[in-house]
Amino acid sequence: MDLLNTLVDKGLRRELPSREEALAVLATTDDELLDVVAAAGKVRRQWFGRRVKLNYLVNLKSGLCPEDCSYCSQRLGSKAEILKYTWLKPDDASKAAAAGVAGGAKRVCLVASGRGPTDKDVDRVAQTIDAIKSQNEGVEVCACLGLLSDGQAERLRGAGADAYNHNLNTSEATYGDITTTHTYADRVDTVQKAHAAGLSACSGLIAGMGESDADLVDVVFGLRELDPDSVPVNFLIPFEGTPLAKEWNLTPQRCLRILAMVRFVCPDVEVRIAGGREVHLRSMQPLALHIANSIFLGDYLTSEGQAGRADLDMIADAGFEVEGTDQVTLPEHRSDAAGCASEGGSACGSESGSVCGSPSGSPEAPEARTDLVAVRRRGAGTDLAPNA
Ligand code: SF4
Repeated sequence: MDLLNTLVDKGLRRELPSREEALAVLATTDDELLDVVAAAGKVRRQWFGRRVKLNYLVNLKSGLCPEDCSYCSQRLGSKAEILKYTWLKPDDASKAAAAGVAGGAKRVCLVASGRGPTDKDVDRVAQTIDAIKSQNEGVEVCACLGLLSDGQAERLRGAGADAYNHNLNTSEATYGDITTTHTYADRVDTVQKAHAAGLSACSGLIAGMGESDADLVDVVFGLRELDPDSVPVNFLIPFEGTPLAKEWNLTPQRCLRILAMVRFVCPDVEVRIAGGREVHLRSMQPLALHIANSIFLGDYLTSEGQAGRADLDMIADAGFEVEGTDQVTLPEHRSDAAGCASEGGSACGSESGSVCGSPSGSPEAPEARTDLVAVRRRGAGTDLAPNA
């Protein structure tokens, strides 16, 4: 296929594809899907070999958010029966992080619900970073605390944070349909603040919220412009009790096309399969490893992931290897500058629910698969052992 040859050539040269080429990836047929995965795989292997980076989420503060992001189970007015708790103590957060590191995670992502941190919150997170780093040699820490005020990114960097995550989530044109309490521009501003402070910027999207193919391409081009080091791709988890609970439109094939499009537009960045991996890719998860070079190990913020052991087995069975702390994630031209990663959502982010637009490949009406969504009841904020 000429399209795929062109995209591979551009990806190997880190050249931006055209919008039309990106849209054409989303419009490929099921007959073409394996060729799409193979083409994206060539680009992935050029920049990341066969390594898979494991990241581990610790939800420092769960639920009770005053913001109204429609996809989020922690939003204002959410009826989702999730765990709700306020800030974990640094030692408790460090214990949760240690479980992930012992399971093979190289990066710990510290997430807190809310619009953004107060200066006192930043102090609290600084103590948590110190606890985690002093007990886990070589671990990377990414903070994900929402919108940042002036000076907070610098303070987090000074406290030892390696990266900051704040997702754009969806296109600028549709942002107001998803959230009314803050804007797309607010999110861009926070990613830029993180970048300017020397933190490795991590920013991604949520697919499946009713957006069109053009919206998906818009948000991914918007991300490329911000030049993050990592791009988490979330697939909406339509939580019961949220406005997007009925949005079950993604198929495994659609998810693979979206991941491939992201890989072609952002060829040399850490592309992470984030929330919704198990729910939407299901038995096609191993194919997605040929495109993305990073996943979350264990549970998400408010829902459960598959067992950590199952992830490790899947990676080995598919012929990939878990990236070690002695290996550099990013290609040399990027790692000289910084490093990063995290999960979907914003302090939030990574689990979200969604709808999806124009699924090229899902001719039948979607059915709700609430049997695939398990609310998290273990790990951080509970007395039960974490999944790692
Ligand atoms: S995504 Fe973040 S800011 Fe939005 S409702 Fe959820 S926790 Fe709050």
